[in-house]
Amino acid sequence: MDNLPIFIDLKGKPCLVVGGGDIAARKAGLLCRAHARVTLVAPTLSEPTQKMVDAGTVDWLGAVFSTDIVMAYSLVIAATDDDAVNRQVYAHAKASGILVNVADCPELCDFILPSILDRSPIVVAVSSGGESPILARQLRARLETLIPPSYGRLAAMVGGYRDAVKAKFPTLAMRRRFWESILQGTVADHVLAGRDELGEQVLLAAIAQGEPESLTSGEVYLVGAGPGDPELLTFKALRLMQQADIVFYDRLVSKEVLDLVRREADLVYVGKQRAWHAVRQDEINQLLLVEAQKGKRVLRLKGGDPFIFGRGGEEIATLAAQQIPFQVVPGVTAASGCASYAGIPLTHRDYSQSCIFVTGQLKEGELDLNWPALTQPSQTVVVYMGLAGLTVLSQKLISHGLSADTPAALIQQGTTERQKVWVSTIAELPALADREQPVAPTMVIIGDVVKLHDSLAWFDPSKQV
Ligand code: SAH
Repeated sequence: MDNLPIFIDLKGKPCLVVGGGDIAARKAGLLCRAHARVTLVAPTLSEPTQKMVDAGTVDWLGAVFSTDIVMAYSLVIAATDDDAVNRQVYAHAKASGILVNVADCPELCDFILPSILDRSPIVVAVSSGGESPILARQLRARLETLIPPSYGRLAAMVGGYRDAVKAKFPTLAMRRRFWESILQGTVADHVLAGRDELGEQVLLAAIAQGEPESLTSGEVYLVGAGPGDPELLTFKALRLMQQADIVFYDRLVSKEVLDLVRREADLVYVGKQRAWHAVRQDEINQLLLVEAQKGKRVLRLKGGDPFIFGRGGEEIATLAAQQIPFQVVPGVTAASGCASYAGIPLTHRDYSQSCIFVTGQLKEGELDLNWPALTQPSQTVVVYMGLAGLTVLSQKLISHGLSADTPAALIQQGTTERQKVWVSTIAELPALADREQPVAPTMVIIGDVVKLHDSLAWFDPSKQV
């Protein structure tokens, strides 16, 4: 290790930034975030530094750097574009034993300013020892996805109970065990889901009882897994997938997404297929309830978005009635996933001012839809579950006034390496499906925007493996 990472308390301490440009502004801003008293030395100021001076967040000495200036400061940063001035600042600070950093010049630095992930009071600093600040920044961005902003609130909340826990648990080992179970358990779950008060109540009860494990209560995460491409998962979905004890997933959840679930979790398939239900909906509702009541973290993983033709509402209604905590995480719904990956904007100033999502599922061979609403001009119609009823759909739309040559597309297994897109007209679509035999899941998009596929298609499924 070339440098020792330490966190310096700069609250109220005088710090000097030499330079008046954009880099100086960034460094001064950083010092201000740590509540230092910041002074700038520069003959002129750029717009960002001028703004800071005008706002009174930093002082401006206005002078050119002179040798005796550094003496009064705890820490000095040189950020001018004049190498000679930077070296002069460095030499004077060194001579006075003051910590100094010259921007972009690792050999003239007593300390490095790392890339920072700020979840105050939690702060993560990443440094490449000056070798590659960009790499450090990329690493920080990855950590960003793993550590939700609510971690700061969690740390601040439990921080208030350190003394109480110390009083209750006399040994370090006992305290460690207590905090580990609190920070991996219900208290953390509550705070990260925004239920801070409940989290605090559980923590208080755990301290009073001295046994955190007995307080574990179950929870259900109703999570949208998106249309297939695992990179379309949200950060939140991924975090909850990695802490689940048991997972109920359906047919639309791709294997690639499923691979990201915590390895130790039990995986239960409760998929449905048209006219054949592996597990009935009311049984699924019941399963979620029973497992959560056992104290488990139950992940209900559904394709796309759980609230768009996903029956997610029914599943959480049962939980709400039984007062089981749950949270809902939206996913990229198949309409937007397929449209994006097929290069078909769902709305477009020149072609479509509205977009409507419908289900094309047949009931006793019929489609019961609001046809006048679906045949409006300048509108895109997206049909979920439309494959089996395609002929009825096409006939009904045309008989209700939609032009037979309205462009229409079929998108099979959108966003995955198996994606296929066929473009035709609403009149020709059933014949095309007969010929090409697309497999489920397939999405139907109808409207003039489909014309844009030819020029805007960008996704090449063959390059995905
Ligand atoms: N809740 C899901 C939709 C469930 S309904 C969501 O928000 O996406 C199931 C229908 O969605 C399928 O019949 C199909 O029409 C469509 N669908 C889901 N994933 C798809 C995909 N990757 N490609 C094409 N269509 C898809």
